[in-house]
Amino acid sequence: MNRILTLLGAMMLTLAAVAAPLTLASPDGHLTLTMGVDKGRPYYTLSRDGKTVIDKSHMGFALTAGDMSQGMKVVRTARDSHDDTWTTVWGEDETIRNHYNELAVTLQGGSRRAQMVVTFRLFDDGLGFRYEIPQQRALPDITVTDELTEFTLPQDVPAWSISTNHTVYYEGIYKRELLSRKDTVCTPLTIEAAPDLFLAIHQAALTDYADLNLTPRSGKAGAVTMLAALTPWQDGTKVKAGSRLLSPWRTVIVGRNAGDLITSRLMLNLNEPCTWDDTSWIEPGRYIGIWWSIHKKKHTWEQGPNHGATTQNMKRYIDFAARHGFSGVLAEGWNYGWGQGEDIDFLTPYPDYDLEEVTRYARQRGVRVIAHCETSGRSLLLEEQMEQAFALYERLGINAIKTGYVAVKLSGLELSHSQYGVRHYRKVLECAARHHIMVDNHEPVMPTGLQRTLPNLMTQEGVRGQEYNAWSQDGGNPPSHTATLPFTRGLAGPMDFTPAIFYYGDEVVPGTRPQSTLAKQLAEFVVLYSPLQMAADAIENYENHPALSFIESCPTTWRKTVVPNGEVGRYITIAREARDGSGNWFIGSLTDETARTLSIDLSFLEPGKRYRAMIYEDGPGADYRDNPMSLAIRQAEVTSADTLTLRLARSGGAAIRLIPVP
Ligand code: CA
Repeated sequence: MNRILTLLGAMMLTLAAVAAPLTLASPDGHLTLTMGVDKGRPYYTLSRDGKTVIDKSHMGFALTAGDMSQGMKVVRTARDSHDDTWTTVWGEDETIRNHYNELAVTLQGGSRRAQMVVTFRLFDDGLGFRYEIPQQRALPDITVTDELTEFTLPQDVPAWSISTNHTVYYEGIYKRELLSRKDTVCTPLTIEAAPDLFLAIHQAALTDYADLNLTPRSGKAGAVTMLAALTPWQDGTKVKAGSRLLSPWRTVIVGRNAGDLITSRLMLNLNEPCTWDDTSWIEPGRYIGIWWSIHKKKHTWEQGPNHGATTQNMKRYIDFAARHGFSGVLAEGWNYGWGQGEDIDFLTPYPDYDLEEVTRYARQRGVRVIAHCETSGRSLLLEEQMEQAFALYERLGINAIKTGYVAVKLSGLELSHSQYGVRHYRKVLECAARHHIMVDNHEPVMPTGLQRTLPNLMTQEGVRGQEYNAWSQDGGNPPSHTATLPFTRGLAGPMDFTPAIFYYGDEVVPGTRPQSTLAKQLAEFVVLYSPLQMAADAIENYENHPALSFIESCPTTWRKTVVPNGEVGRYITIAREARDGSGNWFIGSLTDETARTLSIDLSFLEPGKRYRAMIYEDGPGADYRDNPMSLAIRQAEVTSADTLTLRLARSGGAAIRLIPVP
C-alpha cells in the first residue's frame, strides 16, 4: 500500500511538472525562461518583457545507444541563485559580476529510460544552458551521434555569420543575410531580431566536446529554427563522452543594441574559475615580429638567402622592441621544418639563428622572444616534442609561443574543430602552463572563454586577419570587415588580427593592401581586442613615424571597456580604461566605406576630472582609396561632460589617448 502511495505521489509530481512549464526569471526580471515537456519532448523558450526571444526549441541527443529526446519526463528540479564578483588575470574588464538564477531539471526517458540533467542559468544579459548525462547503468558508454538542441527565432531575421562549409580556419567575411538563407554556420551567430533586440548564439567552456555549428530550417509562420550540428570525428560520431557527458554551455546573449553584445561577460562567467596559485608569469603586452616581411615576400620562412629569422635580424627587432616599449618579438621560421624534405623540429634552430644568443640578447634588454611552433597540422608531432621543447623555451626565457595548424585535418585524420582538436589544443595549453608559457594559437577551434580557466590562453586567430591584406586575390579585407568583427568573431574572445600596418607599398598581388586609412589601422589597435597585441608591420616602417607614439602607449589589458556607439558592419567606437592605475583612457573609432561624423559622449570618464586628449585622426583629404596615409594629430582638453566630434574618412578611423590632467 505504501509503495502504491509513493508511486501515485511521484506520478502526481510528474503530472504537475508537465502541466505547467517551469519558469525562471533573470535577476532584474526582464528575461524569462520556460522549460517544459511536450508529448515527451523537452523544450525551452526565452522571452524579454513578455515578448518572445527564442520560441519553442527542442533539446536532447541521439546516442549510438539510443534516443535521448523522446518519451522524456521531468523527475526532479532544483533551483539556485548566485551573485559574486571576480577578478580577471587580464582582459577587457578587471572585475566581472557573475549574477544569475539557476534551474536544473532532471529528465528521464528515451529508448534507454536514462537520465539527463539540463541546467539553465539566466543572467540579465542572457541565457546559458548545458546538458549532463550522468554515469548510470542504463548507459555504460555515451557516444553522441547528434546533439538536437534548437534555437527557434519567431521570425526570419537578418544575422551575421560565416559558413562552416566554405570557411577554412574561420577565416571568412561575416555575411549579413536572413537566417533562412544561410548554410550551416559557425558560431558566434549575431542576430538582429528587432531594432532594440540583438542576440548572439554561441557557447562557453568547450573543453572536451565537438565545436557547435548551426543549420537553419524554416518552420511555421516564418519562424526559423537553428539546429545544432556538431563537427564530427572521422567515423561520423560527434562526441565520445565515455561514462559521463558534460556539454559546453549553449549561450544566447540578449542586448538592446549591438554594443551590449560586446560588453556582455556571460561567456566568461560560464567558464570555470582559474585554480592556479600563481598567475604572475602571465604578462599581456605588445609585440612585433619577423612576420609581415615574410608575407610581403621580402623574407622567407625557410633557410636560404632571404631567410627572415636570422640572429642578426632578430637582434634588430629586439633593439627596436626595447626602445619602443614592446614586450615581445616573434620569430617565424626560426626552426627546421619549412624547407622541402625537412622534418619539423621544435627544438632545433636553423644554422643562421643562434637560439641561445638571441634569447640571451633579448633577456639583457628586457624583451621576450616569442617562439613560433607551426605544426602544419601535425598535432601528434607537437604532442611528442612539446614537453622537451617547452622546457627548453622556459630555460631560455621564452614566455610565449605562437602555434599554427595550417592543414585541413590534424594528423591527417581529424578536423581541428572536432572533439579530437579540442582535446589537442587543451593538452598544449596545459603543457605550456606547466612551463609558464603563454599561447597565441593560430588555426584554432573557435574560442569559448576558456581563458578564464587557463589564463595562459592569451589570444587566437580563427579570423580573417591582416595577412589577407598582403596576399589575398580579392584586394584585401573589405572596409566593413573590422567594423563587423567586434560584433561577431570578437564575441568569442581575443583575436590575433595583427593590426597597425603603416606602409602600403610593395604589393605582392596588385591592388591588395589594407583597405583603410592609417588612422583606422591605429583605431584597430584598440577596437580589436588581444592581450598580446601585435604591431604587425616591419620595424623599418615604424621607425621615426609620428603615429607610433599611439601604439607605444596603448595597453593590452584593461580596467573597463565601454561601447559608446556602433552598428554591425558600419562603424564602432570602443573606449577602454587602462588597468595600470593611471586613469588613462583609450578610444578607437572606425567606419566602413562610408565617411561619417561620430559624436562620442564622454560620460564614461571620471566626473570632475580634466583630461588631455591626444587625437590621431584622418588628415586633410584622407580616403582609403586615394589618400590613406593622411593623418592629423591634435590635442584637446575634455571632461566627462563633453562630447567629442570625430570626422572619419571613407574606411577611416580615429585613435585617442586621454590622460588625466593633474
Ligand atoms: Ca591563418
